[in-house]
Amino acid sequence: MHQKTLVELAAGLRQGEFSSVELTRACLERVGRLDEQLNCFITVTGEQALAQAQAADARLQSGEAGPLTGIPFAHKDIFCTHGVKTSCGSKMLDSFIAPYDATVTQQLNMAGAVMIGKTNMDEFAMGSSNETSYYGPVNNPWDVQRVPGGSSGGSAAAVAARLVPASTGTDTGGSIRQPAALCGVTGLKPTYGRVSRYGMIAFASSLDQGGPFTRTAADAAIMLGAMAGFDVRDSTSVDRPVDDYRAGLDHSLEGLKIGLPQEFLGAGLDSGVADAVTAALAEYEKLGATLVDISLPNAALAVPTYYVVAPAECSSNLSRMDGVRFGYRASDPQDLEDLYTRSRGEGFGPEVKRRIMIGTYVLSAGYYDAYYLKAQQARRLIREDFLKAFETVDVIMGPTTPTPAFRLGEKADDPVTMYLSDIYTIAVNLAGLPGMSIPAGLSDGLPVGLQVIGDYFAEARLLNVAHRFQQVTDWHEQTPPGYE
Ligand code: GLN
Repeated sequence: MHQKTLVELAAGLRQGEFSSVELTRACLERVGRLDEQLNCFITVTGEQALAQAQAADARLQSGEAGPLTGIPFAHKDIFCTHGVKTSCGSKMLDSFIAPYDATVTQQLNMAGAVMIGKTNMDEFAMGSSNETSYYGPVNNPWDVQRVPGGSSGGSAAAVAARLVPASTGTDTGGSIRQPAALCGVTGLKPTYGRVSRYGMIAFASSLDQGGPFTRTAADAAIMLGAMAGFDVRDSTSVDRPVDDYRAGLDHSLEGLKIGLPQEFLGAGLDSGVADAVTAALAEYEKLGATLVDISLPNAALAVPTYYVVAPAECSSNLSRMDGVRFGYRASDPQDLEDLYTRSRGEGFGPEVKRRIMIGTYVLSAGYYDAYYLKAQQARRLIREDFLKAFETVDVIMGPTTPTPAFRLGEKADDPVTMYLSDIYTIAVNLAGLPGMSIPAGLSDGLPVGLQVIGDYFAEARLLNVAHRFQQVTDWHEQTPPGYE
């Protein structure tokens, strides 16, 4: 059962081959047996899941079921879930029980999906390896000595190891696409404003977007359909109807123009990744697409720009975690100052502190113009590069990451090297565009992701482009050894 895709599971539920309770039990059993070596989950909500599954079975029987009714999924521990611990991977929120549901949580509940637990992640979504989590690293199912990517590492690894057919993640600079690539699953970061951020613990508000992890693009279409939508409670949510993401999956790619940014294919790219991407592009040519060389001249500004904008916003967002309004409180404070200082000092890990310090620095009176304002200007140039490219091409493709999964600990002491693992994903967030990563090959037994970037609100197009590729390749079906 665990090898079935979401689409296949939905069909099985509808035809009565198995019930949602049976399916949920099977997932929970796998999590119980296999997660010890992976550490994908911070919280498993078994009882609640079985109750949701029972309700889903009733709904399936009454004929009022949608495509997600009765389907188990895992939720990144950044989404607030009413009555369930929502830690964001931090000691700061280790005892935080969310008093309400995020909009995404609510929408998945309404669709009848069954949440089986909350997944491990980098602390406050800051990281590219899941090693900054208070709950310890997640191990990559393809090689447990290696990282699954981050920050949504638990969600990506859980889908790769066939613990769940789908999961949620968030992507501020690559946190859906990068772990999807490193774990060999399909991940989609929607256009900024497509999925509500309400109840999704904020990291960098102008960049954060929630999206799905699945094994296939067809499954991602179903998940995104349930997650997307306008929400009055998120002021940057876009009031625009949600496309039927499944309707166009089979559209022909004849005549599709694929832009290849030269900046993503040069120095620093691992040769195994480059080979897999080249082979994937050849498949697209067979499907009728043409490859067009393009340039994103300001691509090199993306990482430095991001590491001004994201810390600036996070320093402001995390100021509420002070032991008074939210979060861990140090014991026996001597006075208010001591309470604040020790609560934050003990509650946050080193990467979060580094970001807060950079953020408060770049926003401070003497440096605002030199750093923050400058970064905003660079951000506009990055966006304009993409807009210009989309005047001549339909989608942009390249590698999702410069290398396959690296070893645990390999980059943990070197923040700048770690930051560079998002070199191909970050510009997309700065521009607010949608992007996907799809399995496109193996390099020395480790998955390689192909990144597909689209114009604003072109999610349906991306899913179509990914789906057609998955019909002629089987990289998305490859299972990590030991998890078949
Ligand atoms: N790795 C990037 C960072 O550390 C992006 C993280 C994310 O997308 N949440 O900030």
